[in-house]
Amino acid sequence: MTLMVRCYPVISRSCHILPVTRTHVMTRTATATATAIRRSPTRPAPPSSTTTTTTTKKHSHQQSSPPPKQQQPSSTPPPPNAQMANSKYEYTRTFETPHPLLPNTYIILRIDGRSFSTFSQTHNFRKPNDPRALSLMNAAASRTLQALPDIPIAYGVSDEFSFLLPRRCTLFDRREDKLISTLVSTFTGWYVFLWPRHFSPEEEPLRAPPSFDCRAVCYPSRGNVRDYFAWRQVDAHVNNLYNTAFWALVLKGGVGRREAEEELRGTFARDKNELLFSRFGINYNDEEAMYKKGSVVFRDYGVVEEDQEKGGEEEEEETTAVPEVKSKTQKEKEKKRAKKAKIVTEHVDIINDEFWEKRPWLLE
Ligand SMILES: [Mg+2]
Repeated sequence: MTLMVRCYPVISRSCHILPVTRTHVMTRTATATATAIRRSPTRPAPPSSTTTTTTTKKHSHQQSSPPPKQQQPSSTPPPPNAQMANSKYEYTRTFETPHPLLPNTYIILRIDGRSFSTFSQTHNFRKPNDPRALSLMNAAASRTLQALPDIPIAYGVSDEFSFLLPRRCTLFDRREDKLISTLVSTFTGWYVFLWPRHFSPEEEPLRAPPSFDCRAVCYPSRGNVRDYFAWRQVDAHVNNLYNTAFWALVLKGGVGRREAEEELRGTFARDKNELLFSRFGINYNDEEAMYKKGSVVFRDYGVVEEDQEKGGEEEEEETTAVPEVKSKTQKEKEKKRAKKAKIVTEHVDIINDEFWEKRPWLLE
């Protein structure tokens, strides 16, 4: 494109700027950059009649409409590498920060109910556990796995759920913002959508919007991931034993909340077990597995027998290598396989080896 551009590169000895008219062949990008420079508040703006840009030419058919208001130059000039392919405003994209998560690491995204003590009071959640609320959490997690086939497993307890993404996951180019926002909004959407299937609409309609926060943590090894899930399951057990004892004292023993707290302070697991059995005839071992162990939601490709198992330790050594890049076809194939897999919810031990050894694909 041939353009007439008035430039100001010549300064006379008496410090007067002498306008020089030159003819340039400008590319689209160069033209856009020239426009950006022209609009910079640090330089004088030449008369618009001498400058024609690709953008203005593109919209020349709109000449019948009134001329747009003269834009005041922004106080912050655009960065020098601004790309302005579509509009003069597009350079603002260069301010975006992609925040990719570390490559070749497992990603765990944990969502957690926000102000759920208030939310549970508003909706009369039963104490110490409400099977309706927990099954709703599990159902929302299961739908989240359906929506995001990259996730092989999730573990939930109370108002939290942890979702695992594999080491080689490339979903959203591992951008933290996109992963977190997609996961938490998908989960919350399903939580609201499925509410009437778990709480009777007559007895407990949804009276307030639930919300969850979410964080992403990268773990470099299988061992770290196993320990993470073990930590959450131990936490589930400790909290549930405490809550079972606390609410037995309050609801069955007629003890005030503060007194119940006092009574349980400094006690060990065996003391709480003894208290439950001797005073309320509750054998903690007989409590629901969902309450004691939490919920494991995972893709089930069938159990792998011992002789088919992969050498876990040996493979872990390979995590220091350059991450394997899968072809598009390979990725599509895996996605299809993941979508077809049955998603199951179980309340089982994930601290010991057995669960993981029988399902090696969960930590691939
Ligand atoms: Mg919580």
